[in-house]
Amino acid sequence: MALIVQKYGGTSVGSPERIRNVAARLLATQAEGHRVVAVVSAMGGVTNRLIELASEVTAGAKTTEREMDVLLATGEQTSIALTAMAINSLGGSACSLTGAQAGISTDGVHTKARIANITPEKIHELLDGGQIVVVAGFQGTTTDGSITTLGRGGSDLTAIALAGALKADLCQIFTDVDGVYTCDPRVVKDAKKIEEISYDELLEMASSGSKVMQSRSVEFAKKFGVVFEVRSSLNNNPGTLVKEENMSMEAVVIRGVSLERDQAKITISGVSDVPGVAAKIFQRISDANIVVDMIVQNVSRTGIADISFTLTKAELGKAKEVLEPLVSQFGGSAKLDAEDGIAKLSVVGIGMRSHSGVASQMFQALAEAGINILMISTSEIKTAVIIAEDRIDQAANVVHRAFGLSGATA
Ligand code: ASP
Ligand code: MG
Repeated sequence: MALIVQKYGGTSVGSPERIRNVAARLLATQAEGHRVVAVVSAMGGVTNRLIELASEVTAGAKTTEREMDVLLATGEQTSIALTAMAINSLGGSACSLTGAQAGISTDGVHTKARIANITPEKIHELLDGGQIVVVAGFQGTTTDGSITTLGRGGSDLTAIALAGALKADLCQIFTDVDGVYTCDPRVVKDAKKIEEISYDELLEMASSGSKVMQSRSVEFAKKFGVVFEVRSSLNNNPGTLVKEENMSMEAVVIRGVSLERDQAKITISGVSDVPGVAAKIFQRISDANIVVDMIVQNVSRTGIADISFTLTKAELGKAKEVLEPLVSQFGGSAKLDAEDGIAKLSVVGIGMRSHSGVASQMFQALAEAGINILMISTSEIKTAVIIAEDRIDQAANVVHRAFGLSGATA
């Protein structure tokens, strides 16, 4: 008998029929002789709708974050009750628990709380009584009893953390895709499902656009060694296993290719090559809470340098606004240029640590397709380029093929 944690996302519980499907799956798992804990998200679209309602009643003013959490937690509270009812109506025996009832304590940082500890006695008690325990994802409680939420996508974190605290034998994240793919199958038709991926690779792929799970929950899984599987709630296909890397994983040079659209670039040219210039620029950017991705500074000639960086297109306006006054202060030949219509293509794989030539192979594939590279950045397990957005689909396909991801099973 194994203890299994199964998490079902918003699409998987998105309608009464889908909830009945989840209930039937949970019962089938229990019928195989296992102890079953379910973690469910709010029904698809509900969290967004609650956020909209909040902004309507406050006429766009800043909402009180404590109240926001009370509001958002209702989404998951609805789905645990409905899921437990559906299980019971199918002849099973289920009990729903809010985050607080499940023993999930967090710090007091409303809307993005961190889990402090989990005391799962109640869950064990119910499991001992033969029940399926249905826990609300995304929420917890402070020690003084305020409801908190764990940041968007936080049900993943609830599932991973519970699996760790309960020492579960298996943690399955059910979603509306079959697992993690070598590239977005909507872009690369012959992308393959990846059987096994390391935590670090999944994190890099998520940060470069292939979002299947909340990044915080993958970091948590890595820290506590929680192995989990990402798979579909709509079929019985095996999914992708996410775990610590091993030697055989290194044999594959590139695990996947990810793409991120809607990027933008700012170049500040003609600034003096003296200490403090970059500090001033990025201080303004961070004060405005803008997230920067790649940063490139050229080698200065005659004491003048250019600094470029990328950010999301949505934040371009705000970035220009905070930087333009600074650029005028710089005076001289300093000038700001902003550009959107660009995208990022990344290849990710832990095998890159032990194989050379990845960057050149990627650049060669792009060159043969006549695709111009605007910027390049690398990490230990990733090589990324910025290119024109209207070439990104083609670029993903040629690079995917160049690394043999289209033919072989990954
Ligand atoms: N319902 C929350 C959200 O939409 C949490 C989750 O689905 O994981 O972000
Ligand atoms: Mg989700």
